[in-house]
Amino acid sequence: MKFDWHVKWADTTDAETFRAAVTPKTRAIFVESIANPGGIVTDLEAVSAVAKEAGVPLIVDNTLATPYLIQPKQFGADIVVHSLTKFLGGHGNSVGGVIVDCGTFDWMSTDRYPSLSEPCASYHGMKLGETFGNFAFAIACRVLGLRDLGPAIAPMNAFLILNGIETLPLRMQRHCDNAMRVAVWLSRHEKVAWVNYAGHPGNAFYALAQRYAPKGAGAVFTFGLEGGYEAGISLVEKLKLFSHLANIGDTRSLVIHPASTTHRQLADDARERAGAGADVVRLSIGLEDVDDIIADLDQALAAV
Ligand SMILES: *Cc1c(COP(=O)(O)O)cnc(C)c1O
Repeated sequence: MKFDWHVKWADTTDAETFRAAVTPKTRAIFVESIANPGGIVTDLEAVSAVAKEAGVPLIVDNTLATPYLIQPKQFGADIVVHSLTKFLGGHGNSVGGVIVDCGTFDWMSTDRYPSLSEPCASYHGMKLGETFGNFAFAIACRVLGLRDLGPAIAPMNAFLILNGIETLPLRMQRHCDNAMRVAVWLSRHEKVAWVNYAGHPGNAFYALAQRYAPKGAGAVFTFGLEGGYEAGISLVEKLKLFSHLANIGDTRSLVIHPASTTHRQLADDARERAGAGADVVRLSIGLEDVDDIIADLDQALAAV
């Protein structure tokens, strides 16, 4: 009943394109803080200014950064979402997600959000926005979304995820430090055409990464192989320490060649636009000894 929503795309690298896309029908602006897999670091303050001007909440997917690297509320986010399946749970053993209501958006100030501002028939005419004030959206997620759709986490999975979160800062810093070392090493390898890691000086998003995520630019990034499509498939086959997985944010290092797997069904030009061109390899750098990670890449690259 409430699913008739539509998307207008904007360019994350240019806040003006969000301004141009806003219409009276716009209900929210949604961005990733660090984009998967493109490695774009979003100028959150610039996009937040557009959202405030438009009178709509800014929703930030902070999965790749986690609250250890970026706290989007500080830069104007109203709602923050994370996949718990990735760095937060941290061990690739449980699927989940979390919605954080920052309590910053006034749902009663406009008639655009009737689920929050109008009387709710299934709760005896209660107006959620009036009764719950600055945590009305969080309550609506539970008493409307969770009630109607039932996306509850199994208790054991909740336990595993909470255990993972206890070590987030330790893990995240190691993930970032390892990723930085691997990115620099790859950028000097003769079989590597390019490396796209925002923590790397010279990267197009280096300045934004320094501003928004000074502790590190995360651990997921892409690089290109001189040998193209076939080399991508071959590299994944030859890596031994890396696991071949579509997930990211695991303790273990993960690798995938999107063009022959996750993005295989797309046409060539659509793949390019999605950052999954023929030569692209995506890594999620884990917590192993960085010399072991590099040694594995070294032996695999030698063999492709
Ligand atoms: C994986 C991912 C999701 C979806 O998470 P699941 O836990 O797999 O449902 C959402 N946003 C980003 C940025 C992701 O990387």
